Amino acid sequence: MSLVTMREILKDARMGRYAIGAFEFWSYDSARAVVSQAKELGVPVILQVGPFEKDYMDGYENARIIAEMAAEKYHTPVALHLDHATNLTECAEALEAGFTSIMMDASTYDYKTNVRLTNDARKLAEAYGASLEAEIGMLAGNEGNVNNEEDEQTRPEDAKRFVEDTGVDCLAVAIGTAHGFYTKPPVINIARLKEIAAVVDIPLVLHGGSGTPEDKVAEAVENGIAKVNICTEFIAGYGKGFNGQNAEGFKYNVNSLFRAGSDAGAAVARHKMELFLSRRK
Ligand SMILES: [Zn+2]
Repeated sequence: MSLVTMREILKDARMGRYAIGAFEFWSYDSARAVVSQAKELGVPVILQVGPFEKDYMDGYENARIIAEMAAEKYHTPVALHLDHATNLTECAEALEAGFTSIMMDASTYDYKTNVRLTNDARKLAEAYGASLEAEIGMLAGNEGNVNNEEDEQTRPEDAKRFVEDTGVDCLAVAIGTAHGFYTKPPVINIARLKEIAAVVDIPLVLHGGSGTPEDKVAEAVENGIAKVNICTEFIAGYGKGFNGQNAEGFKYNVNSLFRAGSDAGAAVARHKMELFLSRRK
């Protein structure tokens, strides 16, 4: 099965009150851990790449080849997505390599600049038949500091205007989650999400899904979130499985050495995908 756009697989998610999982991958091992579980659950999935994964795989082209291998092997709809691009050069490189989706994250700029960069990215994505995600509002950074400042979270009126001004396919919103693991419990602003969802009808995206209380994630999915990004928790689960295996003694055999990491990653991915489906209509 060839790669699909994110637009195709998110189309029914919001109405159906379920979300599609988006997982970072860096190898065939990690792609398989995700796609094999999507296959078992009968759901599409998003494989995404950030700068670290791109470097690890020696570029976007290899990422596309690996994603295609997994999609074909498991006959599962897979969207290949560039996570958090901050400039058009990165977007163009990924699209040229065959990515079916990109995120232009210009959310740290002022509103006008965010709209301009997002529109430039949309034109580029359209030329390749790819889909586009953008972001409005301030998510906390990789430091794990939780953003509880409600006035820095996405404002419904901004989100509505931004979607009208840019025509994006899906929109990442800031409602209290943060990237990385949390250093103190997050407060997820479901009321704010409901206000946004009341005025924006495209699929909404939750970044910083790792470590967010699962009942809150399910509630967010029930209220308009159609894509949830899981990066840290997937990598951490994978790494723990790998380390645990090797603590028992090194064996000169690829399966005994690497399988436990892959299996542990798969278990995390499956658990999350089941959570995203748990309140499906
Ligand atoms: Zn993110």
